[in-house]
Amino acid sequence: MKVFTTVEGLRAELTEVRRAGLTIEFVPTMGALHEGHLRLIQRARRDGGVVVVSIFVNPTQFGESEDFETYPRDLDADLALAGGLGVGMVFAPAAVEMYPGGEVRTTVDPGPLGGILEGAHRPGHFTGVATVCAKLFSIVGPDRVYVGRKDAQQVAVLKQMVNDLNLAVELVACPTVREEDGLAMSSRNRRLSPDQRREAPAIFEALQAASAAARARESSADALLGACRAVLDRHPSVRVQYLELVDQQTFEPVDRVPPDALLVIAAQLGSVRLIDNTIVGTAERPEREGVV
Ligand code: AMP
Repeated sequence: MKVFTTVEGLRAELTEVRRAGLTIEFVPTMGALHEGHLRLIQRARRDGGVVVVSIFVNPTQFGESEDFETYPRDLDADLALAGGLGVGMVFAPAAVEMYPGGEVRTTVDPGPLGGILEGAHRPGHFTGVATVCAKLFSIVGPDRVYVGRKDAQQVAVLKQMVNDLNLAVELVACPTVREEDGLAMSSRNRRLSPDQRREAPAIFEALQAASAAARARESSADALLGACRAVLDRHPSVRVQYLELVDQQTFEPVDRVPPDALLVIAAQLGSVRLIDNTIVGTAERPEREGVV
């Protein structure tokens, strides 16, 4: 496995890869790799090309009062994990390599989709995400990019960007990987105290309560959200930022299921902010994996 910290070094190597007729399979991450990331890498390997993983905690997607400084970082452990999974190349640039002079002039604005839900609570977040992904896609030139459905709105923002900017990449969305107790895996879980870690599965438990109600033919959004809140009320340390039933494409609120809708939540435990989502409908459906 080769590790690059410069755009120039990575590009030179990728030119060779393309010359050899191999495809480039790209998994962008912010590091502190966990099983969720590893499944994306394993999925990328199935497509047979050279797997490139980026590890970059992107400052421009964090707000002033957010956890950029405390975001978990462990490059040595990440490289050991990636090396064991047959990753061909890791791109781990410093911030100055991605933003020379610390300046960000040209940005990608995802429009209204970037301003609701996560975007409303984290102003500028999706502009940061879309901009860094546009840069990474341009640097790496991947055939396919593998992303996790845990970050459902991020998948939608990237899909919109790929379509709107006619980027020649395929986005492959992969299911959310969870701990045994249902908590969605996240690098931020490392920052939970033991007490918070015990409470955190209430987030998924709440989503499941709504799924169960929908399968029992409860169809109104109010009732489904009420089922969620009943669970969360028993866990006051889980402070909900938003909890909404939304259309899977537009992320605009819906009044009822069916058709299937996406239940999205953001909650804070102490200073740790977690997000999760699930598809809610009258039938139980596993999350789909595939090109979006
Ligand atoms: P991050 O390092 O958190 O920016 O995530 C990098 C990629 O891994 C994104 O596409 C995430 O959606 C994905 N990812 C993070 N956590 C999970 C998870 N629990 N299951 C599936 N994908 C995940």
